Amino acid sequence: MTFRTETGTDILRAKQLLDNEEIIAIPTETVYGLAANAFSEKAINKVYTAKMRPISNPLIVHVAGKKWIYEVAHEISEKAELLIEKFMPGPLTLLLPKKKIVPDIVTSGLPNVAIRLPAHPVANKLLELLDYPLAAPSANPFGFISPTTAEHVYSQMSGKIPFILDGGKCTAGIESTIIGFKNDMPVIYRLGSITSSEIEDVVGPVTINADTTKTIAPGMLKKHYSPRTPLLLTQDLEQAVNKYAGKKIGLLTYNSYSPQLPEKHQIVLGKTTNMSVIAHNLYSAMHTIDNGGYDLIIVNKLPDDGIGKSINDRLTRASTL
Ligand code: AMP
Ligand code: MG
Repeated sequence: MTFRTETGTDILRAKQLLDNEEIIAIPTETVYGLAANAFSEKAINKVYTAKMRPISNPLIVHVAGKKWIYEVAHEISEKAELLIEKFMPGPLTLLLPKKKIVPDIVTSGLPNVAIRLPAHPVANKLLELLDYPLAAPSANPFGFISPTTAEHVYSQMSGKIPFILDGGKCTAGIESTIIGFKNDMPVIYRLGSITSSEIEDVVGPVTINADTTKTIAPGMLKKHYSPRTPLLLTQDLEQAVNKYAGKKIGLLTYNSYSPQLPEKHQIVLGKTTNMSVIAHNLYSAMHTIDNGGYDLIIVNKLPDDGIGKSINDRLTRASTL
C-alpha cells in the first residue's frame, strides 16, 4: 500500500487514523515514533512492515497515564514503583511482566512488556484522547538513524504511512533508557536520556547489559542507528582527518570548528560542558551530514560519563569503520 503522506498538527485526524487501525508518526521528547493501536494486531503488523523490522523485535507501549501501566502490566515491584514515581512521564522505558490484554506480537512473544509514559504535550494530548495505548518503535527504517523532526520522518517514511503528526523538534533527541529487572536487580538494556547514575540515585546499584549477541533490545545490537555514509568514531580527530586526507570528509565536532577543514563541512553539536545539548542535536546533525554527499563522516568520542556514555553508545553502533 502506498500513501500520499501528509504532515500536520491535527490531533483529531491522528486519532481518526489510529482508530481505523492505520499507523502514523507521532512526536515524543526522545525521537519520533511509528504508532499503532497497541491492542490491534492488524495495526501492529503494519508497523513491522513499514519499518522493515524483524518481527522478533518487540515494540514499546506508550501510555496516557500511570494508571495504564497497571492495565498492561502486573507484578510491579517496589523498585519499579520508585522508578515510575521519579521518571514518568519522561524518557524511561520499563520492562514489566505483561498482562494478557497486550497481544504477543507487541512483545514478540516475550513475557515482559516495555512501557513508557512520554513527556511531550502533543503525544500526551493524543494519548489522552485514545482508549488504547500506542505501540511505537522509532519512525525510521530498521537500523537507520532515528528521526527527531517531522521532516526526518518524511524523508525516510513517505509513501509508507498516511500521516505525520508534527510536534516540532524532539527535546531529548536520543532514545529512552530501557530498564528491566533480574531477580529484582535493575538492569539497563539500553543506555539513553536518563543516565545510570540518575537511576542508581533512586534504586541503588544497576548493571548494564552489554550482551549484543542476544536481541533483547535491538537498540543494543552492535550495528544500529547508522547513516548510509561510512562513519568513523575516533579518540583522535586530528589524526583521523590526516589519515583520510583526499577523501571528502564531513565532521561532527564539539565546542568549536576544527581548523583542519572548511567550516561548511562541519557541524558543531554543542559544548562538552552541556552534553544534553549534544544529544538534542545528534540525530539531526547525522541526518544533515548523511545527506551532504561525503565519502566519510568523522566524529570524536565524548567523555564516557553521564549522557556522554549514551551518546558514545549510539556513535559506536553507528560507526562502520
Ligand atoms: P525502537 O523500537 O527502535 O525505538 O526500540 C525500542 C526498544 O525497546 C527496542 O530495542 C526493543 O527491542 C525494546 N523492547 C521493546 N519491548 C521489549 C520487550 N518486551 N522486551 C525487551 N525489549 C523490548
Ligand atoms: Mg529504533
